[in-house]
Amino acid sequence: MKVTIWGCRGSITTPGPDTVRYGGESTCFEVLTDDGKTIIIDAGSGIRKLGNALIKEKTRTDLTLLMTHAHWDHLAGFPFFKPAFSPRYAITVCGGPDAQDSVMKSLRHQMDPPYFPVDMSAIKATLSAGCSCGCAECEHRLIGAGSAHRCDSIPLNHPNGGWGFKITGQNGRAFVLLTDTEIRFHHEGGLAREEYVEFCRGADLLFHDAQYTEEEYAKTVTWGHSTYKDAVDLAIDAGVKRLGLLHHDPERTDDEVDRQLAWCRAYIADRNSTLDCFACAEGTAHEV
Ligand SMILES: [Zn+2]
Ligand SMILES: [Zn+2]
Repeated sequence: MKVTIWGCRGSITTPGPDTVRYGGESTCFEVLTDDGKTIIIDAGSGIRKLGNALIKEKTRTDLTLLMTHAHWDHLAGFPFFKPAFSPRYAITVCGGPDAQDSVMKSLRHQMDPPYFPVDMSAIKATLSAGCSCGCAECEHRLIGAGSAHRCDSIPLNHPNGGWGFKITGQNGRAFVLLTDTEIRFHHEGGLAREEYVEFCRGADLLFHDAQYTEEEYAKTVTWGHSTYKDAVDLAIDAGVKRLGLLHHDPERTDDEVDRQLAWCRAYIADRNSTLDCFACAEGTAHEV
């Protein structure tokens, strides 16, 4: 499968000369499975450019949109996703077990007056709600009947909750996305660290929340995000092959991301690990 990053900035979009290399769009990822299914994860501002690319390409009209949660940086791009306004498209929106109603409600609510000039009635795509608990019905909805791919979800440790996802390809290779999750603090609905380690066990590619340095985290405990060290430790303990650092803090310039990445690589060497670590960058694609 191929994973393309359309946005990996956390909290708010950050255009400008200091964020050109890693990007300023908030979270959106495209997963193209080996059998041609398109799974989009999150509708942050990055989904606008993905929508433009899909419209230009014309061929892929059956889309699955997985929502990690409904915080603005993961939701606010949806009214600018052009395929939603075309009757040619069918979009199944999923946001974890029991969350289907709330995800649709959140998408609708942000377009209600006075928040947006165009309401949900302008949406012309076939929009349907699914869930992603891994049951046979969701397997069918998410990936399509007869596909050898599977999609698993796990609750995030984040204020107001949310979902992490693991997509496993026909060849058994797995991509895991855990954004907006705080490893060192327990939020309602969140799980113990060991359960996230097991969820990521042996993954070929993990994108994990790494918003803060250790110094910053002293002031941001309970805000729902992890540190660089937390993300690296989890990836090493789970035997992950490649780790992409994600949900870059809005104040983190490109040069600062480089510095933090260098710190992570030195720390990985100290731990005698072969983990391949990089910082997620908008516009890059990763084969899994
Ligand atoms: Zn976020
Ligand atoms: Zn969040």
